[in-house]
Amino acid sequence: MQSNVNINEVFTSLDARKAEALATIAKYGEADRAEASRVALIYDRCDQTSIKHLEDTAKFLKRDFVPLVQTPTNKLGVNQMQLLSLDTNSKLAKTNAKQDDYMFVGLSMMPNDRLCPGSKAAGCMEVCLQSAGMGKFSNVAQARQAKSDFFMSNREAFMAQLVKEMKSKVRTATKKAKTLAVRLNVLSDVQWEDIPVTLDGVVYSNIMEAFPMVQFYDYTKLASRLSKALPANYDLTFSYSARPTYQKQVSLALRNDNTKMAVVFAGEFPLTFMGRKVIDGDAQDARFLDAQGVIVGLKAKGKAKTVKNDFIVH
Ligand code: SF4
Repeated sequence: MQSNVNINEVFTSLDARKAEALATIAKYGEADRAEASRVALIYDRCDQTSIKHLEDTAKFLKRDFVPLVQTPTNKLGVNQMQLLSLDTNSKLAKTNAKQDDYMFVGLSMMPNDRLCPGSKAAGCMEVCLQSAGMGKFSNVAQARQAKSDFFMSNREAFMAQLVKEMKSKVRTATKKAKTLAVRLNVLSDVQWEDIPVTLDGVVYSNIMEAFPMVQFYDYTKLASRLSKALPANYDLTFSYSARPTYQKQVSLALRNDNTKMAVVFAGEFPLTFMGRKVIDGDAQDARFLDAQGVIVGLKAKGKAKTVKNDFIVH
């Protein structure tokens, strides 16, 4: 996207240290991690106006700039940030209240094209952002954005913090004599099965392998994920959209009779959809307890109720 910012004006309006940050950002595509860290530290000391200048300039230079979020005193408060939460998602909170056997926690990041690679074909981003991304409370949206920035810019530190929090949640669930159930993609479609983690000095193929006592589950817009050899403790439900560009994904997903498919309905749930039985998916979120091959009916929420979109069945 071309910004209307004047690059010369930006450079002359900043002091030497900020100008140095801009120059480094200009090279960011080729930057190694150390250089990126240096930018982050400079960025961290900038005031809000300067940060806006930095972002505008990155756009002007057509760079895909994401500040590296890692410092203990970061303005985004990463070290104070909890990645996993018990009840900031209303459906997880409702499920926790209903389920005696499981303790549910989720990770809510702000969705974007990189965290949701299937969203373009499915056409779900607009509705998702309207109903959940912006939320009612800006502090919730800011926290989600900060988590997305952290994940995209410093994967290693993000995964280390996630593992640390997982250990703590497992301890809490054990004390309550419950099984921990974790949904890492509350508002994203990250392929967690492909991301290695380190736990107590041992490298595991993914977080599911590191925590075999935990039940993981997610929804996905990527049919290819369903045909992978997923860890036994990771349950995936495919997510439907009627958008024509997405029908290849739907066909691929439904090749397997056991595929559970979530469908968002604008009105009452039908008894069947595409010849499969519809169940009420809003009653609770424990998708891994559903029968195989069902349609998981979800009601359109927030502004999504009134938006015309292929993602929602009217
Ligand atoms: S519906 Fe899912 S894939 Fe689509 S934008 Fe939201 S989180 Fe991402």
